[in-house]
Amino acid sequence: RTVYVNGSYLPEDQASVSIFDRGFLMADGVYEVTSVLDGKLIDFAGHARRLQRSLSELDIENPLSDDEWLTIHRELVRLNDIDQGMIYLQVTRGAPGDRDFAFPDPAVTKPTVVLFTQNKPGLADTPMAQKGLKVISIEDIRWGRRDIKTVQLLYPSMGKMMAKKAGADDAWMTEDGFVTEGTSNNAYIVKGGRIITRHLGNEILHGITRAAVLKFAAEAQMEVEERSFTLAEAADADEAFITSASMFVMPVVELDGAAIGTGKPGPVATRLREIYLDESRKQAI
Ligand code: PMP
Repeated sequence: RTVYVNGSYLPEDQASVSIFDRGFLMADGVYEVTSVLDGKLIDFAGHARRLQRSLSELDIENPLSDDEWLTIHRELVRLNDIDQGMIYLQVTRGAPGDRDFAFPDPAVTKPTVVLFTQNKPGLADTPMAQKGLKVISIEDIRWGRRDIKTVQLLYPSMGKMMAKKAGADDAWMTEDGFVTEGTSNNAYIVKGGRIITRHLGNEILHGITRAAVLKFAAEAQMEVEERSFTLAEAADADEAFITSASMFVMPVVELDGAAIGTGKPGPVATRLREIYLDESRKQAI
């Protein structure tokens, strides 16, 4: 695999970053994941916009222009011959010569940029979409700026392991009794034809797929309510689903061991998945 590090395209085993990199020492960095379908980028503009916002919130200067980001994404797709898969990008505050809590002088320490591809043939036609996911609920004990897409993913990673241990696929996190989001996705329920998903704020990541799906849902005259919902409401919902750049729209059929609705992927989630895949493929660049 060919990867990109700080201006160079290299074989992955020749790519390296400093042990003093603040991404490594302090999780001082942000990332994006963009899906590739038919060799094209899904919602690149949305990911570029959120990257800029995450960097600004952390006072890291964006090291590249949107055009430069796009060129690197396309070049990696070409070099690695990706038809379906993902591109991961990470920007950290860089590697000052020492470890220090204070941010280094940005005139001296430049951000570290890393991108790599993941080849996922069949990403859009995964059998998981017919089966649906089982989720468990866990307490959301992450920090208070979940709207910034940082690389500090230890708790979501632990949540995923708790789910696996319980024989489930993922975990929905709750705070003050309300669902925030999944470990790596936004959470939705459907009740009486209405799609309900938590409103934006510092408590959740502002999903790029979420924004697209809500727009497509409105265009299809579906009713959408952006508000928090409880686990009890989720348990009583007609259906549930999640969205993310790599899962698109994925039905959720079980919560804490109990079936949601019929226990099978519901019509709203199934329809939204089709619309999302169709529309985003049409708009891919
Ligand atoms: N919430 C969290 C915590 C996530 O990690 C992700 C995916 N990285 C999402 C939501 C979904 O965001 P997107 O649709 O932009 O992939």
